[in-house]
Amino acid sequence: MSDKVLLHTCCAPCATYVNEALEKEGWEVVNIFYNPNIHPFDEYVHRYETLVSYLEREGKVLNVPFPYNPLEYFSLITQPENRCSQCYFLRLQKVAQWGKERGFKFFTTTLTISPYQNLPAIWEVGKQIGEKWDIEFLVRDFREGFHQSVARSKNLKLYRQNYCGCIFSKYEGTKRRLEKRLTGLKFS
Ligand code: SF4
Repeated sequence: MSDKVLLHTCCAPCATYVNEALEKEGWEVVNIFYNPNIHPFDEYVHRYETLVSYLEREGKVLNVPFPYNPLEYFSLITQPENRCSQCYFLRLQKVAQWGKERGFKFFTTTLTISPYQNLPAIWEVGKQIGEKWDIEFLVRDFREGFHQSVARSKNLKLYRQNYCGCIFSKYEGTKRRLEKRLTGLKFS
């Protein structure tokens, strides 16, 4: 019988490759969605619905044990420029705690498929939380599957967002796109 791993899952496109990669390693994968960083609420719902429908197609369920409360994210962020480690900590700690209470011995995250994320920070946070809650964090680098996940999402017509999740990342992405054409508008 294979060991179970609790997979913190951020969205359907990332879940496609990471579920398969972990299953190839021999794990039984249990997906959990906890992402209060996603803003606004309709974006959260869109990502959630896309993920549920993808996993259902694969014969899997999505665990969503916590209600959406963006204040959990906003109250934690003291310095927007250093926000990502705090964001990783918030999400992974709650997932690890939930898993520990239900007998999981291992957890990890889909976040390490993204070339836009800070992998050393994710690994560090994951290991710290793993030690604290006595549940092992699987240190993985899934970036080699990023392009495959993009192609798979296009084939399956899955919604793919163009920003990480928080209002800051939405602003930064929009700013990058607008700066090229709105030369008269000033951005901070
Ligand atoms: S950019 Fe992404 S990882 Fe960083 S704080 Fe925003 S939602 Fe979290």
